[in-house]
Amino acid sequence: GAALSVRHLVKQYDNASAPVLNDISFDVPAGQVFVILGPSGSGKSTLLRTIAGLEPIQGGEITMGGELLRQAQSAGKLRSASASDSTKVGMVFQSYDLFPNKTVLGNIMLAPVLVQKRDKASVQAEALRLLERVGLADRKDAWPHELSGGQRQRVAICRALIEHPQVMLFDEVTAALDPEMVREVLDVILELANSGQTMLIVTHEMAFARAVADHVVLLANGSIVEESDHPQEFFDH
Ligand code: ADP
Ligand code: ADP
Repeated sequence: GAALSVRHLVKQYDNASAPVLNDISFDVPAGQVFVILGPSGSGKSTLLRTIAGLEPIQGGEITMGGELLRQAQSAGKLRSASASDSTKVGMVFQSYDLFPNKTVLGNIMLAPVLVQKRDKASVQAEALRLLERVGLADRKDAWPHELSGGQRQRVAICRALIEHPQVMLFDEVTAALDPEMVREVLDVILELANSGQTMLIVTHEMAFARAVADHVVLLANGSIVEESDHPQEFFDH
C-alpha cells in the first residue's frame, strides 16, 4: 500500500494571486524513492514543506499509511499535529539547521529525549549507531562549527532518522555544499534507499536522481506535467 498519499493538494500563499501548487496527486509506495524535478520556482520546496506540516494547505489532503495527516482548513490554519506526528515525516533542508550550542550527539538526541521522552541511554546508543552508519562516529563530541558542510548534513540526516520517520523528505540537501562534499551525502541517501526507507527527494544532481529513483515526477508551475516509473528511460530521453 501507499506509505504516502497526496490527493488534490492546493497550496496558495497568503499574499499570492494564484496557487503555487494546483491539484497535485500522487502515491508513494512503501520503500520507494520518489524524485521531484522541476525548474526553480515550480513549487518543489513548497510541496515538501506542506507534507512536513510546515505550511497550511488550501485544498486536498495528505494521508500516511491510510491515516489522515493533513487537510485543508477553511480557517486557513494548520491542522493540529497528532501526538505521533513527528515520527511520520523527517525533513532535511538545503541549509543545515543544527543547534550551534549543542554537540553532534546533543543535536541528534534533543528531540527524542525532550519531545518524545524516550530513554536517554537507549537514545544515545541509537545515535551512536546512526553516526557510525554515516561515517561520523569519531565526531560525536564536535560542535557544529567544527564540521564541514557535508558532515553537518550527515548529522542533520541522523537527527531526522532517530525519530524513525515513515517518510524522509530531502530538499536540495547538497545544493549548498562544495563539490567534494556532495558525494559523501549522496552516498548516505543511497544507502538509506537500499535499506528500504521511503523517501521524497528534490535534487539537481541528475546522475544521482537517475541512480536512486523508483519514480520521477516533473513539476512545472505547480502542476505535475510528467511522471515515470521507469527513471532510466526518463533520464535517457
Ligand atoms: P522551488 O522549490 O521549485 O524552487 P518553491 O516552492 O520554493 O519552488 O516556490 C514556488 C513559488 O512559491 C515561487 O514563485 C516562490 O517565489 C513562491 N514562494 C515560496 N515560498 C513563499 C512564501 N513563503 N511566501 C510567498 N511565496 C512563496
Ligand atoms: P527554494 O527554491 O529552495 O525554496 P528559495 O530561495 O526559493 O529556495 O526560498 C528560500 C526561502 O524564501 C524559503 O523559506 C521560501 O519560503 C521563501 N520565499 C521564496 N519565495 C518567496 C516569496 N515570493 N515571498 C516570500 N517568501 C519567499
